[in-house]
Amino acid sequence: MGMRQVWAEVNLQTLRENFFKHQTYTQSEIMPIVKADAYGHGVIPVVRTLIACGAQRFGVALLQEALEIKAVFPEVTVMVIGATGTEDSDTLVNEEIIPAVFQLAQAQALSETAVRLNRTAKIHIKVDTGMGRIGYRETDISEILRISQLPNLYIEGIFTHFATADQRDLAFARKQLKCFEDIYEKLKMMGLTIPIRHVANSAAILQFPESHFELVRLGISLYGLTPSSQVGGNVGLEPVMSWKAKVSHVKTIGTGETVSYGRTFQAAYPTQVATVPVGYADGLRRILSNQGEMLIRGRRSTIIGRICMDQTMLEVTKIPGVKVGDVVTILGKDGGERLTASEMADWLGTINYEVVCGISNRVPRVYIEAKEA
Ligand SMILES: *Cc1c(COP(=O)(O)O)cnc(C)c1O
Repeated sequence: MGMRQVWAEVNLQTLRENFFKHQTYTQSEIMPIVKADAYGHGVIPVVRTLIACGAQRFGVALLQEALEIKAVFPEVTVMVIGATGTEDSDTLVNEEIIPAVFQLAQAQALSETAVRLNRTAKIHIKVDTGMGRIGYRETDISEILRISQLPNLYIEGIFTHFATADQRDLAFARKQLKCFEDIYEKLKMMGLTIPIRHVANSAAILQFPESHFELVRLGISLYGLTPSSQVGGNVGLEPVMSWKAKVSHVKTIGTGETVSYGRTFQAAYPTQVATVPVGYADGLRRILSNQGEMLIRGRRSTIIGRICMDQTMLEVTKIPGVKVGDVVTILGKDGGERLTASEMADWLGTINYEVVCGISNRVPRVYIEAKEA
C-alpha cells in the first residue's frame, strides 16, 4: 500500500530554531505547551526535539496527554495546566504528574493519595485573575493557605493565564498581573512562599517581559505561528508544519458544466480542473468551498465547487502544465508564494490555533529531522 497522497510535513529543525529564538526573549525557563498533540504537530517527535534543545518541563491540557509523554520520556516533568478530577489522584501521584489545583476537594484527594502511597505530590495552584475560566480568585486566599497545610502536598508553583496578552493594548493584562502579584504577596505574608510563578503565554513572552517570572508557557509561537495579527509578526517565526497533497486527476470541462455536490460551481468558459485527494475529513473546512486557495506550481489557485469528505477540486486553467502527481500546498510555501495558517484562519473567521489543531489524524505527519547543534 502506497503512502496517502495527503500529508503534513513537520520540520523539527525549524521547531528547534523557533525554540532558541524564544530564548532570546526571556531569561526564564521555557515550558513548551504541547497540548492537543503539540497543536497538531505530533507530541512525541516535538517533545523529543525540545528535550534535545534543553527543555525539561512540558505543559499539556489533559491527564491523558501527560501520560502519553510520560510513557516515552519518564524523566521529564509534565504538568497538566487544565482541570483534572479527584478520581485522577492515584495516577497523578504515581506518575509524578503535576496538576493545576483550584478546588479544595481536589487538593484533599491528592493529599490523601500521597499519604497512602507514602509520596509527596507536587502541585501548582491556578489563580483566575481575569480569564474567568478556572482558578482561585483573589477572595480565596484562605483556601490556598488551607491547602498548604495538607500533608504530603508540595505547592511548587502558582500560575494564572492572560485573556488579552495578544493585543497591542496591555492595560487589562497589566491589571491581571497586578492581581496575580497581590495574591502571591499576600500568601507570602501569611508564610506561604511558592518558588515558581508562571503567567506568560507566547504573546506575553514576546511583548510583556514583566510577566515572565521563573517560568513561561510557550505555545503557539513555538510552532512558528503568530499569537495574533498584532503580536509576533516581527519576530521572524517560521511555521513548523506545512500541509500538502498530490493531484489525483486533471481534466478540462466545457462551458456550463459543473463541479461537485449541489453544482455550486458552473464553468463560464472551458476550465481546467485539478482534483486533490483532501477533504473535510482531513480538516479542510467545507466552508472554504468556492472560496479557499491552494498553491500549485508556485501559483495560487481557487477551490471550485463544494469540498467533499475526501476530495477537493481546484481551478488551474491559468496554470499551465498541471498534471497528476503535482504537489499541492494547502499550507506552506511553494516558490515565492506562501499560505499560512493565519491566512486560512482569516478565510474561516477563526484563529491559526484552530487551523493547525483541526488537521485531522487521518493526515499522516511526516517528520524532517533536526540537525543536532
Ligand atoms: C494553551 C495555553 C498556553 C499556551 O498559549 P499560547 O498562546 O499558545 O502560547 C499557556 N497557558 C495556558 C493555561 C494555556 O491553556
